[in-house]
Amino acid sequence: MKSFTYNAAASRIIFGVGAVKSLEAEIKRLGAERALVLSTPEQKSSAEQIASLLGPRSAGIFAQATMHVPIETARAARAVAQELKADCAVAIGGGSTTGLAKAISLESALPIIAIPTTYAGSEVTPIFGLTEGGIKKTGSDPKVIPRVVIYDPALTISMPMNLTLASGMNAIAHAAEGLYAEDSNPVISLIAEEGIRAMSAGLRRVGEAPDDMEVRSNCLYGAWLCGIVLGSVGVALHHKLCHTVGGSFNLPHAETHAVILPHAVGFNAPAVPDAMQRIARALGAPHAAQGLYDLGKSLRLPQSLQAIGMKSEDLDRAAELALQSPYWNPRPFTRGEVRELLGRAYDGLPPDA
Ligand code: NAD
Repeated sequence: MKSFTYNAAASRIIFGVGAVKSLEAEIKRLGAERALVLSTPEQKSSAEQIASLLGPRSAGIFAQATMHVPIETARAARAVAQELKADCAVAIGGGSTTGLAKAISLESALPIIAIPTTYAGSEVTPIFGLTEGGIKKTGSDPKVIPRVVIYDPALTISMPMNLTLASGMNAIAHAAEGLYAEDSNPVISLIAEEGIRAMSAGLRRVGEAPDDMEVRSNCLYGAWLCGIVLGSVGVALHHKLCHTVGGSFNLPHAETHAVILPHAVGFNAPAVPDAMQRIARALGAPHAAQGLYDLGKSLRLPQSLQAIGMKSEDLDRAAELALQSPYWNPRPFTRGEVRELLGRAYDGLPPDA
């Protein structure tokens, strides 16, 4: 066994249907009294419900969270937190809302209680992103990790089905790359395999049974595990391609992950047979990359970059960008190989594994 370092985040996790009712007790436990409730404009009514649940412990609502945390929004939220003398932030929503809470905490060290309503996993990672002048910069700081995460599967039922499925594949991508990350370790590999198993099992059933709490619980449990992987070990070619392609050409975040994942995993397959075996076993499929492609197909997720808005004339530039400051990857790659991979993903072909 290779030597390894394992970092465990000190978050407190409350999981279960109806778990959101414990929010006030969790705020008290932190010694806080004035919570600023954060959401997107689309989920403002959820933020209002949270605020009314909290009564006097709610200091106010800031419902302007948006994708990729524009610096202007972060500054506005920081100012509101200060003005209202908030002593904690409650983020109800997906990665965009959690991201805004992290941007506040980065400057003020305000403790965050996250109530995730998608499968993005940001609530258990130290990773933050801020977008200034159209450029998204990411960083990592343990101080932005939410102190408490309340996973309530009932709150995920309202998630639109396309977001449910794409967000689930996004979570699987975190776990798949964690299995072959440069700093992978045996504990995280166990968590990653179980995360892929739980999430893929949940996703296979959620289309027919969107209100089934057992199914939703499986997905959210899987999302938590996959998020732990993202927060603990590095990522590789797949995430690099998603950040490059998604960020530079303004493609939808979770769908971009869903399209690229089988291709990136297929490319890496010869270099990391043990990781491939684990992914395949978790999916209950003979092959990892083809298994991921087939899962996306069976869920009727978009399978091509073309279908999610990429232009063929941008493929060369995307390959070029992917070669700039590349992430570590278990299999070295050339510009030509990345261009070919992106070409297959653009056309929606099965992975070349
Ligand atoms: P999102 O947070 O952008 O949400 C998408 C839309 O769905 C929003 O309008 C939101 O209000 C709505 N929504 C969310 N949950 C809902 C629900 N249950 N019911 C109804 N509507 C709901 O989407 P996301 O995929 O969760 O997050 C994407 C963002 O998170 C990206 O910016 C990505 O870079 C970031 N992210 C960060 C990390 C990290 O570790 N820092 C990890 C994963 C993703």
